[in-house]
Amino acid sequence: TRMMSTKGVLGSPKPAKRVKLTSVEPTRDELLEERKKLPIFPAKGKLLQNVQQVSTAIIIGETGCGKTTQIPQFLYKAGMHRNHTIAITQPRRVAAISIAERVSKEMGTELGQTVGYCVRFEDVSCQATKIRFMTDGMLLRESTLDPLLKRYSFVILDEAHERTVHTDVLFGVVKGAQKRRRAKGLPQLKILVMSATMDVDQFSQYFDCAPVFYLEGRQYPIQVKYSVQSQSDYLFSALVAVMQIHQEAPLGQDILVFLTGQEEIESAVHTLRDIVKDVTKQYAPMIVCPMYAALPTGQQMRIFQPTPGGVRKVIVATNIAETSVTIPNIKFVVDTGMVKAKIFNPNSGLDMLKVCWVSKSQAWQRTGRAGREAPGTCYRLYTEEEFEQFSTNTIPEIQRCNLSSVILQLLALGISDIVHFDFMDKPRPEAILAALDQLVLLGAVEKQEKVQLTLLGRQLAAFPLDPRLSRVLLGAKEFDCLEEMLTVVSLLSVESVFHTPYNKRDTAHAARQKFISSEGDHLTLLNVYRAYKGVKGDKQWCQENFINARNMQTASQIRKQLREICVHLQLPFKSCGQNTGVIRKCLCHGFFTNAAELQHEGVYKTVASKKTVVIHPSSSLFMRKPGCVIYNELVQTSKCYMRNLSVVDPQWLYEAAPTYFKRKKTAN
Ligand code: ADP
Ligand code: MG
Repeated sequence: TRMMSTKGVLGSPKPAKRVKLTSVEPTRDELLEERKKLPIFPAKGKLLQNVQQVSTAIIIGETGCGKTTQIPQFLYKAGMHRNHTIAITQPRRVAAISIAERVSKEMGTELGQTVGYCVRFEDVSCQATKIRFMTDGMLLRESTLDPLLKRYSFVILDEAHERTVHTDVLFGVVKGAQKRRRAKGLPQLKILVMSATMDVDQFSQYFDCAPVFYLEGRQYPIQVKYSVQSQSDYLFSALVAVMQIHQEAPLGQDILVFLTGQEEIESAVHTLRDIVKDVTKQYAPMIVCPMYAALPTGQQMRIFQPTPGGVRKVIVATNIAETSVTIPNIKFVVDTGMVKAKIFNPNSGLDMLKVCWVSKSQAWQRTGRAGREAPGTCYRLYTEEEFEQFSTNTIPEIQRCNLSSVILQLLALGISDIVHFDFMDKPRPEAILAALDQLVLLGAVEKQEKVQLTLLGRQLAAFPLDPRLSRVLLGAKEFDCLEEMLTVVSLLSVESVFHTPYNKRDTAHAARQKFISSEGDHLTLLNVYRAYKGVKGDKQWCQENFINARNMQTASQIRKQLREICVHLQLPFKSCGQNTGVIRKCLCHGFFTNAAELQHEGVYKTVASKKTVVIHPSSSLFMRKPGCVIYNELVQTSKCYMRNLSVVDPQWLYEAAPTYFKRKKTAN
């Protein structure tokens, strides 16, 4: 079925336009020429002059105009950093890394020297680093060690419109640091807030009426085409749309597709590659690149390489390509209108990832990607009526996600009056209470006259992890299984360690069987790791066993870093050997709120919120359906799936959190 009336819009297929293949890296001079063409360049003098005069400024400019890559360099070249460091925060690690690479190339310096980055589990910077790209989460963490942020003369809060929890909390933390530095007569901390959307009154007001600078953008007209009918399978519709464009539009015009997550993106990428590989050679060649937050660094860079002649590039991305990374040469945007968002219901304690509609402002950002260098077209795979139902703006994450992690960090920062913290948009009081309650149950917080961290809580805050995962690590000392728990937690901190090529599903599945534990996914992961260490991380072995070698390597590095924190906290390194039941018992101490009981025929109900859930097909327990399980996360797509599960005894849950379950009983 045709889903869009594209006939006659794109015209008849034209012969492929040949583009010269450029495989050589551009020189620094060539980069400079390119940079001079950015809309931000003519504004440089005025911008610096303005920034010089104020302590805080808001900077607004279209995606791609040069804010993130150029402004830190302008400040640095002008010496305005006063030999301190300029921090630039990004909501996503991929963005922090790829932009740092780009800027160090533009400056002709080695990455990790003058220009560096710092993301969770990876710090490529040094004392001499003056331009430091970092995730908002890392700067927040750093502020718990140095609340005045003394290392920095500038904090640039980039992508402010995204309103992630970490950026939102940083607004308050950085504003507070600026005030206190002023009060103490310390050198000034300048704050720049950068955003791609024009909706800025709130930012300006929050920062004591800071001036707003608008950068001239460059945007070509974009044709927006809505779907004629509502689509029931957006993934399928997206594939159809891409193939349709591929057949009808001249080569050399690239396509950007918005989907929601890694798995979906990998699956779409493989399907597209398979279709164009078709032996009948009916399709022109296509380079298909995935783009999502957890993508290994090396692979991300392919997106920015020029497309060779006679080929079309298709980039399949999450909302990361909305504003945080600019991809050149996009002529067509295919927008499914979907995004994966964190949702938390404070009343039921239900915490999950859910695929839902984007906001209107996000949809317009996506559309805008098609008109950066020339007029373009955006295919919206939803109807105009559906679009009208979208909310105007995205609700800030802080008003819809579980706050326990961020409240733990605020408490570690010495901020105990969470309710009166200087939030730009206050979280719901019941969400704050629910988070505090969870921290109390985990043993991290005491509520006496005022809320404060316990010794355990301070230890939990030392780990760059969800407090439940940190709790499990700390709990491991009671169960003599810290070595194993370090492994499990590290493996949970990377994307899947299993590699499932699209066309070898069955072989991969068969190869996996030897690792599968009847006790669940956590022990399956442990088995993989033990076998991997047994062969000393041999690449060939990984390939034969369909194990993702890169993710295993990352997990090993994460393990090393978590181990160092454990050494610092003087935790005893013990191994439980084959006595793996204790690992599952220990997991209950962090995840007692995430338990579910089997009802009938594979249908479970969560203990806390009585929600109907099922086991994700990727789980080692998918065929087994045990009576009682704990899970790490819920993902809602067509159904609500539990991911990363272990079989547990209900008694263990009770022992892990007696107060919680007693309360549940009385409540029911
Ligand atoms: P903004 O922050 O205003 O959205 P950026 O500073 O990220 O803009 O990007 C400015 C320009 O630099 C973009 O138009 C893009 O062409 C180029 N650019 C950015 N990152 C890369 C990269 N990794 N590789 C190649 N070009 C890049
Ligand atoms: Mg930017």
